[in-house]
Amino acid sequence: KPQKEDPSSIAKRRKAERSNNPQIEKKIDELLSKMTLEEKIGQMTQINNSEIVTNAQWGNGADLSIEIKVDTARLGKMLRKYHVGSFLNGIAVSPETWYKFYKDLQEYNMKVSRLKIPIIYGVDHMHGPNYVEGATIFPHAINTAATYNNKFPEEMARVTAIETADLGHQWLFAPVFDLSRTPLWGRFYETLGESPYVAATMGSIFVKTAQNETAVAPYKIGATAKHFLAYSDPKYGWDRGPVDVSDQALYEFHVPPFKAAIEAGVKTVMINSGEINGVPVHASYRILTQLLRDELKFKGVAVTDWEDIIRLYRNHKVAQNEKEATYKAIMAGVDVAMTPYTTDFCDYLRALVQEGKISKERIDLSVSRILRLKLELGLFENPYPRNDRFKKIGSPEHKAKALEAARESIVLMKNENALPLNSGKKIVVAGPVANLKRPLAGGWTLRWIPAEEEIYPKDMLTVFTALQKEFTGSNVSIANNADEIKSKAAGADALVLAVGEMPYAEGFGSIHDINLPQDQIDLVKAAQATGKPVILVIISGRPRVIASVYKDCKAVLFAGLPGFEGAQAIAEIISGKVNPSAKLSFNYPYAVNRLIPHNHKISEVTLAHEIENPIALMPFGTGLSYTTFEYSNLQLSDSVLSNANAEIKASVTVKNSGSREGKEAVLWFIQDEVASITRPVRDLKYYEKQTLKPGESKTFSFTIKPSQHLSFPNEKGEPLLEDGYFTVTVGNLKTRFKLKTSANIN
Ligand code: BGC
Repeated sequence: KPQKEDPSSIAKRRKAERSNNPQIEKKIDELLSKMTLEEKIGQMTQINNSEIVTNAQWGNGADLSIEIKVDTARLGKMLRKYHVGSFLNGIAVSPETWYKFYKDLQEYNMKVSRLKIPIIYGVDHMHGPNYVEGATIFPHAINTAATYNNKFPEEMARVTAIETADLGHQWLFAPVFDLSRTPLWGRFYETLGESPYVAATMGSIFVKTAQNETAVAPYKIGATAKHFLAYSDPKYGWDRGPVDVSDQALYEFHVPPFKAAIEAGVKTVMINSGEINGVPVHASYRILTQLLRDELKFKGVAVTDWEDIIRLYRNHKVAQNEKEATYKAIMAGVDVAMTPYTTDFCDYLRALVQEGKISKERIDLSVSRILRLKLELGLFENPYPRNDRFKKIGSPEHKAKALEAARESIVLMKNENALPLNSGKKIVVAGPVANLKRPLAGGWTLRWIPAEEEIYPKDMLTVFTALQKEFTGSNVSIANNADEIKSKAAGADALVLAVGEMPYAEGFGSIHDINLPQDQIDLVKAAQATGKPVILVIISGRPRVIASVYKDCKAVLFAGLPGFEGAQAIAEIISGKVNPSAKLSFNYPYAVNRLIPHNHKISEVTLAHEIENPIALMPFGTGLSYTTFEYSNLQLSDSVLSNANAEIKASVTVKNSGSREGKEAVLWFIQDEVASITRPVRDLKYYEKQTLKPGESKTFSFTIKPSQHLSFPNEKGEPLLEDGYFTVTVGNLKTRFKLKTSANIN
């Protein structure tokens, strides 16, 4: 049974959420006092643009130059009868088309809206403004994480904000705060890797930058922390599948990134479409109200994911019908229904209020949050987009930032003196993704799942064309199959095999088996059989198992999904123009379908021995450079922490002991040696990246704070801080210290 909060406590909740801007709060109160029930419910409704657009919903073949045609009769009904307050979704069209579409939509809305409440438009700009023709496309989040450089989430957020604010895209459905837990899941690449610390840090940098970017004035951008909560850990790896996870693990792994997002001021949260421990999150008062509101103190807007209220009835079967589903979702804590598809949601919700099942106070609570969002983003004062920043879209300055991000996001996993290849070398390029554009940027690029090569920018490079540009063109040839590899290898110095995946998104990216497909393995084997050095380049949104060919590759690059500038970055790493500096943001699996993360339990190690497989082919944090770094002199400012507020400063000297300049990301891990709840073997707690010249040494340090780095949550989310020994690991060095706040430990 849904929890029923009484109207007076809901009213109290609304009061407690008031911001410290009196004008905004006054305006909210004024509007609420004038709005009809129908107008309020309209604000809680977000409609997919396919409800009002007659062409181009999912793209229109290869043509990006189409106009968007609006069904004005239908739009009229949505706005006049249902007072819909929000629209969403993307198709790649020109900036001019976006601008005109949104401007016309808003103008029409402002004409018919009795109280002049602007609409807000939400869009999935996941790695740059990926639904805008000509825009700057960054690597996906799984690559951003591998940079271990906080500059990149910041630049991606800034460029996305600047390139789209003029188009009416004020509500970004990004970033993703889920953790990569299983490569079977089709959204692995949308995550910032498996470390809660990296997701929390980089995700909240994105949120702060996008939301506070002053270059987009007079507008503001609202970001979304998604998908609350534990979405990325479906039991069998299928998108939106059920999650079984202990409360302790929820608090330890899944809550911290969202907590950081909320502390960073994220304006909206999108809800996990799946279920946690048998309760669909969209119907969970525990997750959406007690945890999100009461414990994590989120005051913004909670939006459903796609059709998810109806799915409580159709898929989860926790409601008898759509009306009951609506009741359950609203009582759990939903503010905005994304794509209820039909306007039935509005009718059901109105009936539920009229029947006295849902209070007026409950509706006002959600509507006040939505109005606050619109007011804080400046939409009431500036409802219409201006078009004077179009020139920034895809500017050389922005593209240079995406290229730099790509360069720092490609992991050199293995190198037996095969790379870099000097410029006179003869190279044969092969593999199914070697001469295609779309694998480089993956899903959520121009289309949800792009299928046409023709939609990509004319000047975008593939691995093959980028290598031709980087090396003497005539020395680089392509082999289209195993026979051609064999015949062309004779005259080659090296074979570059580009393997990987074609674009996918969401459920269409869930797979049964994470092995690299057999035909690709066979191709790599055919290349290896030539006896020439094989350089494997993996272009893929997740790790695919390559254990059977790994040993005989001379070099392996995990390029992830490096974006529109990605091929150039790959070629520059192969030629040595760029010295790689990325490190894996997940444990690259050896064989099993499930990824065992770096912060797994100690007892997992025994299991790995029993099945005679290493836990990872290449562990979290692996990443080579063309220079070498030596770690020495790991020191702690103290070996004992005698109270919970004390701190220890750990420091280490890193020397560039090779002959070229390089960047080193220093990763700090902590292990709690013995505790009342089993602890991870190690857990990343801090990182920092710096450039070192040949021969140069730098000191890197990390301040260890008990409450932040040593405590862990119990099943109620309460922090436990237990005396005992802790191991600090950095590079190949280790040391330990003691937390001794009582006399019970020696
Ligand atoms: C996805 C969300 C996305 C939404 C809107 C859903 O299917 O799960 O991540 O923001 O669609 O496009």
